Amino acid sequence: MSTPSTTVGSAVLGGPSLPQERRLVTAIPGPRSQELLERKAAAVASGVAHTVPIEAVAAGGGVVVDVDGNSLIDLGSGIAVTSVGNAHPGVVAAVQDAVAQFTHTCFMISPYESYVAVAEALNRLTPGDHAKKSALFNSGAEAVENAVKIARKHTGRSAVVAFDHAYHGRTNLTMALTAKSMPYKSGFGPFASEVYRAPDSYPFRDGLSGAEAAAKAISLIEKQIGADNLAAVIIEPIQGEGGFIVPADGFLPAVVDWCRANGVVFIADEVQTGFARTGAMFASELFGIVPDLITTAKGIAGGMPLAAVTGRAEIMDATHGGGLGGTYGGNPVACAAALAAIDAFENEGLVGRASEIGAALRARLETLQASDPRIGDVRGHGAMIAAEFVDPVTKAPDAALTAAVAKAAIAEGVIVLTCGTYGNVIRFLPPLSMPDHLLQEGLDVVAAALAAA
Ligand SMILES: *Cc1c(COP(=O)(O)O)cnc(C)c1O
Repeated sequence: MSTPSTTVGSAVLGGPSLPQERRLVTAIPGPRSQELLERKAAAVASGVAHTVPIEAVAAGGGVVVDVDGNSLIDLGSGIAVTSVGNAHPGVVAAVQDAVAQFTHTCFMISPYESYVAVAEALNRLTPGDHAKKSALFNSGAEAVENAVKIARKHTGRSAVVAFDHAYHGRTNLTMALTAKSMPYKSGFGPFASEVYRAPDSYPFRDGLSGAEAAAKAISLIEKQIGADNLAAVIIEPIQGEGGFIVPADGFLPAVVDWCRANGVVFIADEVQTGFARTGAMFASELFGIVPDLITTAKGIAGGMPLAAVTGRAEIMDATHGGGLGGTYGGNPVACAAALAAIDAFENEGLVGRASEIGAALRARLETLQASDPRIGDVRGHGAMIAAEFVDPVTKAPDAALTAAVAKAAIAEGVIVLTCGTYGNVIRFLPPLSMPDHLLQEGLDVVAAALAAA
């Protein structure tokens, strides 16, 4: 696309009409980006780090444009958030309309229609045809906290099981649920109690079948915690920050069956995998499971902050009036954005588009892997694909190589993100508005960076 970008005053407008090209006019960071990064270093707490050293001014389709005029290929979507595309025209229009009507009443004071409509859409779209209800929050971590609250109230039990390599957020309870110490937990304890960790299924490293991995996890749960004490098991159907770990077939269904037989609430944390990302509306569908509760955020509202817990009506209704909520939860502008984003997911073929993007990513990465044994594993579903970098002989994680490849790709104008407990995974999460030619060009750059590393 070569439509010239629109401007308002001096600002470049984003959205799909931005030129869909990789364009470097300065080194990364350019001089004006560098100025902002200096102000950031002086004004913003150093714990709030960044990985792509630019000042973003516009984004859309498959690119992010910086203040120096560089146009970078976006293979990260702001961590799986802008799945419908950045500044999606439908989302922009819905936000503009909503914000001009009212910015806030607090849904707990005076309800409004858009919140109810988002709840209805989530109840309709999430897996299972049982009666469902939803509650809205601001962030993924807040959704996870509330899912645990609801499960505890429903069961009258307190223990919660999370898994190796899990990531559930940065608040106190969700830090406890998260596995990785650096950077998420180190020095931030003490953590919430009654959180236990079970082994996950990680086929590349554990060599177990799904049934074997599930038996191992269930045995640990039964012996070390006891089903009678357990309120909930929470798991990401495909683990995100932990390394895009896809469990072996049969693992998730076996865990769900065990939970159901023991009165334990099964929570699928679909904050990263939700909303078309994996080539299904929700990743649970890929594994044939129906969660009791499901947490969503990230892709839900085209970039506006919104999150939800959706699940079986009798579980969701276990909580007394006033027990759930928050000042901003289900903000009307964020809800309007979510309704527009959900419309795009359903009516712009984005589930199919995620599968197409995934097939292209996988084909390219598997070709690279065939001639480069440093790529130990290529895995994922839909537009959520990763490559795990290892020592070719020992399979030991190679975090240094991973960091070098990511850094070189970013310097060449391609935004890639790393992840993994061992920091040795590059994850590909392009917006579903990514044109094919940019996806291929982005992968060319990553391939060249790997060859040079
Ligand atoms: C990002 C993420 C969270 C936390 O979401 P925030 O909006 O950052 O609080 C929770 N769970 C998963 C699986 C995530 O990927």
